[in-house]
Amino acid sequence: METLEFQSEARQLLQLMIHSIYSNKDTFLRELVSNASDALDKLRLESFRDKDMVVDTDDLHIVIESDPAQRTLTVRDNGIGMTREDVVRLIGTIAKSGTAEFLRKAKEQQAGAGSDLIGQFGIGFYSSFMVADKVTLLTKYPHAEKGVRWESTGESTYTIEDVDDAPQGTSVTLHLKPSDDEDQLPDYTEPAKIREIVKRYSDFITWPVRLGGEEINSRKALWARPASEVTEEEYAEFYRHISHDWNAPLETIRMQAEGTFEYQALLFLPAQAPLDLFMRDGKRGVQLYVKRVFIMDDCAELMPEYLRFVKGVVDAADLSLNVSREILQQDRQIQLMRRRLVKKVLSSIKALMGSRPDDYAKLWREVGAALKEGLLSDADNRDAILEICSFASTHSAEAPTTLADYVSRMKDGQEHIYYMTGDSRTSVEHSPHMEALRAKGYEVLILTDPIDEMWVDAVPAFDGRQFQSVAKGQVDLETEEEKSAAKAKAEEFGDLLTWLQGLLEENVKEVRLSSRLTTSPACVVGDAHDITPTLEKMYKAMGQELPKIKRILELNPSHPLVEGLHKAFAAGERDALADTAELVYGLALLAEGGELADPSKFVKLVADRVQRTF
Ligand code: ADP
Repeated sequence: METLEFQSEARQLLQLMIHSIYSNKDTFLRELVSNASDALDKLRLESFRDKDMVVDTDDLHIVIESDPAQRTLTVRDNGIGMTREDVVRLIGTIAKSGTAEFLRKAKEQQAGAGSDLIGQFGIGFYSSFMVADKVTLLTKYPHAEKGVRWESTGESTYTIEDVDDAPQGTSVTLHLKPSDDEDQLPDYTEPAKIREIVKRYSDFITWPVRLGGEEINSRKALWARPASEVTEEEYAEFYRHISHDWNAPLETIRMQAEGTFEYQALLFLPAQAPLDLFMRDGKRGVQLYVKRVFIMDDCAELMPEYLRFVKGVVDAADLSLNVSREILQQDRQIQLMRRRLVKKVLSSIKALMGSRPDDYAKLWREVGAALKEGLLSDADNRDAILEICSFASTHSAEAPTTLADYVSRMKDGQEHIYYMTGDSRTSVEHSPHMEALRAKGYEVLILTDPIDEMWVDAVPAFDGRQFQSVAKGQVDLETEEEKSAAKAKAEEFGDLLTWLQGLLEENVKEVRLSSRLTTSPACVVGDAHDITPTLEKMYKAMGQELPKIKRILELNPSHPLVEGLHKAFAAGERDALADTAELVYGLALLAEGGELADPSKFVKLVADRVQRTF
C-alpha cells in the first residue's frame, strides 16, 4: 500500500468541500451517478472499437446500496473502470481548465467558502467530501490485471493499493458524516431519500439505476419526450449533467427534423460564460447521440467554434453507432444538420432579444465576445449575427445598442455607421477623432474587444450601411458651404502642408487639414485599409514584426497653434519651425494613445519651450 499526496489544487478544492456550507449537499449523489453513467457509455464505446476487450456488456447498470448500521452509501457501476495510473491522475489531481481561476475567486469569497462558486465549477467526485468523512473507491479497468483500492479522508493524502478480486467497473463507498438537520445533512442511507434524489437529478440517465433490486429512474431521454411534458426543473438537471454548470440554463432550445435524415436536438444557452470560454483548450458543448446512445462529447462537427458556449445533445437516427470524427467531417447530412442547428441557435437568441431583453443582455455580456468571432468565421450567417450583436455607443453610457437601434437614430443624410476602436471606452471618448462627430451630434459605436479590431475590416455593411471608422480615411460631415470654405483654407495652407510633409516624411505619408477636429490642434489618422494603432499593439504583443506603418497627420486650421505655425511659415521662418512641427506631430500621437518613436527627444523639445516662457 502506498500513501500519496494530493496535488495542491486538489487539496485546496477538497478543503472547500470538507468545510462547505453549500446548502444543496444532495448533489453529491448526482455527481457520482453522472460519473458512473459516463463510465458505462465509455465501456460500451470501447467494446465496440476494441474487439479484443473481454468484457460483459449485457447488463450495464448502476447500483446504489446503503447500510444504515455502518452508515455507508455505495454507488457501483460495471463500466470502464480505471487503471492505477488513471486513479492517480484523475482522482489525485485536477487538470480541469479554469481550476486556478476558480480557486483564486473562491479565496476572495472566503466568507461563503466559495459556496456560490461551487455551483459554477462543478467539482464532481470531490463533492463526496461534503457528506462523507472517508471515501473508498474500488475499480478495475478491463485490460488491467489487477484492480485498485483508493481511500482518503480528504485531508492532504490518500492511500492506493492493488487488489486481486475487484469486479469490473467502479464502486465508490462513502462513510457518511453523522446526519444533522441543522447542518442540512439528511440521512443519506434512507431509501426514500436516495430515491427522491435520483428521481430529481438523474431520472433521464439512459442506464438503469437500481436500489434494492428495483429500477428507480425512468431512463427516458428528455429530447424524445413531448416538449409539453418536460418540466423546467428536468431540463435544468439534464443541463447540469452535461455541462457541469450548476446554474440553470438561460434558455432551452428544442429541434426536431423528420424525413430522410431524422434527428432531435436539445440545446441550452448558459446564464454564465463557461470558465474555459477563452482558453486555448476550451471545448465545444454539444454531444452526439445515435438513437439514444451516447457517441461523443465535444462534437466540433455539429457546432462552430464561435458557438462553443452552447451545450446540449443532438441525437441522429440514421448514423452508424461506430461513426468516427473522420466520417462526420465528410458527411453531407452532418453539414446540413450543423447549418440548421446554427440557424436555430441564432434565431433563438434573436427571439430572446424581443421577448426577454434582460436575459438577452445578460447572455450578451457573458458570451458576446465569442459570438462576434462568427462575424469573421461564418460569412453565411453574418447578417444574422449582426442582428443579435450589441455594442457600446456614445448614445448611452450604460446600455449597449443594437445596430437596428443605431440605424433608427441615424441623422438625416447620414450614410455610414460610425465606430471607433480602442483599448477602453475612456480612451475612445477622449480621442480627438471624435470631436467633430460629437460637436455635430453623430452617434459613434465604441468597440473595445480585441475581436472588434478584426471583424470591422471584414464586415462591409449592416442593412446596406457601411461601417466607417472615425479614425480612418476622410470623414465627410460637412455641408456644401463648409466644403468650399475648407477648400479655400487648404489652398491658403498649401505651401505649409507641402513643407511639413517633406519634413515629417519618415513618419507620415500625408499632411492635410482636418474636418474632424474642433478643439485639438492635430490628430493622426489611417487610410481606410491601414491597421489601427490598437491592432498594431496587439500584433507586437504577440511578437509579430510589422512593416513601419505611415499614417496621415491632420491639422486643425482654426486652432491657435496651427494658425501661429502658418503665420510664422508665411513670414519665412524655417529652422525653429521644424521643432514646432515635430511637437505638433508628437502631440497628435499622444492624444490618441499612440507611442512616440523618440520620447526623449520629444521631452527635450517640450522642456525647451516651457523654459522660454519664464
Ligand atoms: P468530471 O466527472 O467532471 O470529469 P470528477 O472529479 O467527477 O470530474 O471525475 C474525474 C474523472 O475520474 C472522470 O472524468 C473520470 O475519468 C474518472 N471517474 C470518475 N468516476 C468514475 C467512474 N465511476 N468510473 C470510471 N471513471 C471515473
